[in-house]
Amino acid sequence: MNPSENSKPGRKNSFNRFNWLYFALIALLLFTLLSGSYNPVKEISWLEFERNILSRHDVARIEVVNKEKANIYIKEDRLDDPKYEAVSKNIFGPNPGPHYALTIGSVETFETKLQEATKDFSPDQQIAVSYISSFDWSTVLAWLLPVGLIILFWFFMMRSIGRGGGGSSIFNFGKSTAQLLDKDRKSKITFADVAGLEEAKVEIMEIVDFLKNPGNYTKLGAKIPKGVMLVGPPGTGKTLMAKAVAGEAKVPFFSLSGSEFVEMFVGVGASRVRDLFKRAKEKAPSIIFIDEIDAIGRSRGKLQAFQTNDERENTLNQLLTELDGFGTNTGVIVLAATNRADILDAALLRPGRFDRHIYLELPNQQERQEIFKVHLKPLKLAENIDLKQLSAQTPGFSGADIANICNEAALIAARKSKDLVDWDDFNEAIDRIVGGLEKKSKIISPREKKIIAYHEAGHAVVSWFLKNTNTLIKVTIIPRGKSLGAAWYLPEEHQIITKSQFKDEICAALGGRAAEDLIFNEISSGALDDLEKVTKQAYNMVAYYGLDDKIGHISFYDSTGQNERLLEKPYSEATAKLIDEEVRKLVQEAYDRTKQLLATNRDKLESLAALLLEKEVVFEKDLEKIMGKRAIETLAETE
Ligand code: ATP
Repeated sequence: MNPSENSKPGRKNSFNRFNWLYFALIALLLFTLLSGSYNPVKEISWLEFERNILSRHDVARIEVVNKEKANIYIKEDRLDDPKYEAVSKNIFGPNPGPHYALTIGSVETFETKLQEATKDFSPDQQIAVSYISSFDWSTVLAWLLPVGLIILFWFFMMRSIGRGGGGSSIFNFGKSTAQLLDKDRKSKITFADVAGLEEAKVEIMEIVDFLKNPGNYTKLGAKIPKGVMLVGPPGTGKTLMAKAVAGEAKVPFFSLSGSEFVEMFVGVGASRVRDLFKRAKEKAPSIIFIDEIDAIGRSRGKLQAFQTNDERENTLNQLLTELDGFGTNTGVIVLAATNRADILDAALLRPGRFDRHIYLELPNQQERQEIFKVHLKPLKLAENIDLKQLSAQTPGFSGADIANICNEAALIAARKSKDLVDWDDFNEAIDRIVGGLEKKSKIISPREKKIIAYHEAGHAVVSWFLKNTNTLIKVTIIPRGKSLGAAWYLPEEHQIITKSQFKDEICAALGGRAAEDLIFNEISSGALDDLEKVTKQAYNMVAYYGLDDKIGHISFYDSTGQNERLLEKPYSEATAKLIDEEVRKLVQEAYDRTKQLLATNRDKLESLAALLLEKEVVFEKDLEKIMGKRAIETLAETE
């Protein structure tokens, strides 16, 4: 057999299936076009007919069709007359007729007119009139053709959509698009690739064990969980963990994203859910992994009346039913991942459905070190890489951010044609990821540059002399991303933040504006980011953390996220006013304190600004030279 014959069986079949349709439609089109030229019947008016044909005794017979039209046949021997040249022949030879067609108002009028016109004719000159009714194909075709074309167009559309959606035709719409990984197609990721997350790994390994050795659990009467929800901020390794499960479990693993259920056609989502579970049960023991489940699992609430998506709800309902429907020991476990567990429907999270929740937090310093180790492995590194310092400099970074830093550092090193990736490349990568792209070409006037230098020096001096602020590592006035300069800190990781810490952070953020105010007696728009941060922090302190004396120990925070969708605030007008007043007071007090601190240290502020203007970047060592060693114990306590 010719191998090429077999190469695309699916395509060939679908082509055959549609062949007849194309040909039928093309034939229809040709027939309609040709039928006009096949018999050249000429439309004629009564007057012309009577004067030029009837009165000359050229008519052989008349045929009245469907009481609407009179077909006129000319005597054969008269067709040679030049005036009949146009109708005497058709494309196949002599035209047998009809040669002319006459539209008649009604049969009665036609008969009266004919009688009148032929009243002087001798009996053998009289004309035979026959009446027939016929089915007019051309009218039907005229209707069929556009309908046929529309159907053809629709088929084309559906086929291309079907292909785009992963299926080969429209008939595959309701089929699940899940990717299947099994012994033939294995995931290469193992638990060794997932760094940190020790507790989560233990939990998830247990799930794998449920599938492999269900007897150990069921013999004691335990029910095997049906659903496991991986919850955590973006980039914390949820998908990675699921891929590791696929690599380690050695059972068929169906993986798809929540959004793949939802199509533009109603009912497709539900049918895909059914199909997915059917396939998984056939291959049990197996695992289904639904990434970004919030795409379908969003809570169905009254509040969403404006934004309800029926199709999504149907899909969710079907998912709930399937989770309920399969028994506890059928050997199918559903893993799902989301970073918005708060918006998920409660029914999805209840025991019996996704009853196990595994939280993946942002990594702590130790875990970040582990993650760095995983991502540094494939890189060619210089000796001077300090893993500990790297992890200390990246608080709040997720696994994905760390992977990004490692890759970015390698790219920077490659751009500089280095043989090894060194410490400077990592620092540059962190700066770039945190601050954005360096923009040395940005045009800044000398006056603006001076303002920026004082602004950044203001942040630096204030944070240097406050007890509860992070260690400053460098100050720069090189524009990066949207910012024109920055003060870089080495943040400590806190689980809780005290009131004094909050207040000191607000002061440090206001340092830039206060410095501008003090030196130039004028403030600029450059403090936008700082003010945004300060305002949010102050509102959080007052309205959420219960840190304000007048508001008291009250929090308007709503962990369920319901309030976000409410149009009304959960407190009274009077409280709203009080919150606003307290926030204003808090920020004003912090501002006054900051300005005072800068006035006391004005000499240091000026020296630092001058050094910044000269060098553009000032590191910790130079900061120490200007402001003295930062001895936290001797710094004044926040009042
Ligand atoms: P999202 O919620 O946005 O989908 P996610 O939690 O699913 O994010 P992943 O896709 O799993 O995030 O992680 C993205 C990348 O980050 C991974 O491909 C991996 O390179 C890296 N990463 C994240 N966490 C870890 C980790 N614990 N160990 C090693 N690499 C990690």
